[in-house]
Amino acid sequence: MATISDNLQLVHARIAAACTQAGRPVQSVTLLVVSKTFGSDKVREAHAAGEHQFGENYVQEALDKIQALQDLRADLVWHLIGPLQSNKTRPVAEAFDWVHSVDRLKIAQRLSEQRPEHLPALQVCLQVNISGEASKSGVRPDEVPALAQAVAALPRLRLRGLMAIPETAQTPDAQRQPHGALRALLERLNAKGLALDTLSMGMSADLEAAVLEGSSLVRVGSAIFGAR
Ligand SMILES: *Cc1c(COP(=O)(O)O)cnc(C)c1O
Repeated sequence: MATISDNLQLVHARIAAACTQAGRPVQSVTLLVVSKTFGSDKVREAHAAGEHQFGENYVQEALDKIQALQDLRADLVWHLIGPLQSNKTRPVAEAFDWVHSVDRLKIAQRLSEQRPEHLPALQVCLQVNISGEASKSGVRPDEVPALAQAVAALPRLRLRGLMAIPETAQTPDAQRQPHGALRALLERLNAKGLALDTLSMGMSADLEAAVLEGSSLVRVGSAIFGAR
């Protein structure tokens, strides 16, 4: 049976092959290991294999895991990638390093107010509903510029970029389209004076398409830990 370490090697090889195809340096893409539903022992195993960046979806599950892994805290970077309700912002502002799922100014304001003074600014991405699906969370693309300007002005947050979970598509070309749209949106924001460096896009099934369209951070779960 493939171990977490074996799977990580395969994922890094996929990222490297996509970078070669795209003419990009392999260091330009960060692997975010998505550990939702898997226990702290699995995170430890991935960390022992050399990983530092971990993504979680459910606030309470993540807080428990961060607590169980306190001994490694200085060596881990925790990212919230799942939906965030306004009544859960305080523990998130206190425990995480990054939040990728900001899609309303109210959430961003609360995170900024609640970020403890002794910690560096919370790193944030705006989640964009890039495929225009009615059921998906994320801000509409046409609302992104105004929200980005407002979030960038908050004192205890640092706006780093955009995140999306595109609709599943089967062909490589169809997978690339929404990733390309997210990159174009980021480029428009930077042309208007922001300095965003993060495109959080690509998962187990479509990371190659995302890297070809400029992803700087791929969020990969099942290809590392197996089916959930
Ligand atoms: C679960 C999840 C992932 C990882 O998905 P896999 O298909 O398991 O790689 C990435 N991003 C978000 C937002 C997720 O919820």
